[in-house]
Amino acid sequence: MKNFEIHTLGCKLNFSESAAIAARLEANGWHQGGIPEIIIVNTCAVTSAAEKKTRNLASKLHRDNPLASLVVVGCYSALKPDLLERWSGVIKVFGSSNKMSAVDFILQREAQSTPVFFDAYSVHDRTRSFLKIQDGCNNHCTFCTVWIARGKSRSDSIENVLKNIKNIADAGVHEVNLTGVNVGDFGRGTNDNLLKLLKAIVKQNALERVRISSIEPEALSEDIIKLVAKSPILMPHFHIPLQSGCDRILSDMRRRYTAQEYADKVHFIKKLMPDACVACDVITGFPGETDEEFEETYHFLEELPVSYMHVFTYSRRPRTHANMMEDQVPEEVKHERTERLLELSHAKKMAFYAQCEGQTRPVLVESEVVDDQLTGFTDNYIRVTLPNDENLVNTIQKVTIEQCRTIL
Ligand code: SF4
Repeated sequence: MKNFEIHTLGCKLNFSESAAIAARLEANGWHQGGIPEIIIVNTCAVTSAAEKKTRNLASKLHRDNPLASLVVVGCYSALKPDLLERWSGVIKVFGSSNKMSAVDFILQREAQSTPVFFDAYSVHDRTRSFLKIQDGCNNHCTFCTVWIARGKSRSDSIENVLKNIKNIADAGVHEVNLTGVNVGDFGRGTNDNLLKLLKAIVKQNALERVRISSIEPEALSEDIIKLVAKSPILMPHFHIPLQSGCDRILSDMRRRYTAQEYADKVHFIKKLMPDACVACDVITGFPGETDEEFEETYHFLEELPVSYMHVFTYSRRPRTHANMMEDQVPEEVKHERTERLLELSHAKKMAFYAQCEGQTRPVLVESEVVDDQLTGFTDNYIRVTLPNDENLVNTIQKVTIEQCRTIL
């Protein structure tokens, strides 16, 4: 989304010119509303009071939208451009006669800053490969800096992903992990989407095993879950970030689902694939998280059939909205909460492993040796050890899970 805001002070002429600026931006794919990338302030200098009002407005806008860039136009800009250029957040100043140049500036800047996608894959141990299919994110979660660092969402084409998978398979690799910043966003702005890609991969049938890396809950559709359930290539392993089980916190994080919607997805997975591994991410101590709200998250996770959790203690990141929120949670409280969730995660992992005890599952054997035993992962992402026989490395073996142990 290319979002902008325009704020107008002063006379009717200013208002009509603001409307013209907005119309030209909208005609070029920009949208008024949402979290602004650009804020235009159309200023007035008719009195010193008007100048003061403009100054106060610009400083408030910058405070409320620290990631937005301010473009200032109008009479005040024409009279004191040097002064306005020094205001925090201001990237460009235009006077009154060349107001519309602000639009050209914004469009040019956008063209120069639009990130391009480049594909990449790594090969781990000749057995597994991490294949980048997507980059960037348009979600703007309030605790996250990744979308700031990585830029807008963009993806590879289905055709090129298939070509890369073929190359990876030809190199003797058996498993690919489809990765990206927001994999579920694959194909945004095109006619492609993740479901289409997965169907094409299944049809191509070039590799034995394909995993989807972390996928946002709102992007994990029932159709994708059904496809994974019926495909022998797509592994029954999901990593779905939750972050909080409390709707108020989710809303403050600017996440795009409710706890109930998240739970529905997990239950649907478990209904179709009872032995699927479902991992989630949780953040403890997000600003404003009360004891009661943490307990809500704790009990939500206690009840939910997730296999284990990646628990993160909230840390303040510069340039994020969450960094400026009041009610930051004291460090010792955050760590206590993290410890409790780690214990819960351990118990859940043990229960998940115990559920799979006695089952025979396919394991991709890796070359890593631990205590003189080879290691590998089952289809549902249980790490197993098996007798050290180098002939087994980089093969898929049927392995019966005898005894479970886990390390906290
Ligand atoms: S947390 Fe994930 S979904 Fe949210 S902005 Fe960051 S990368 Fe995007």
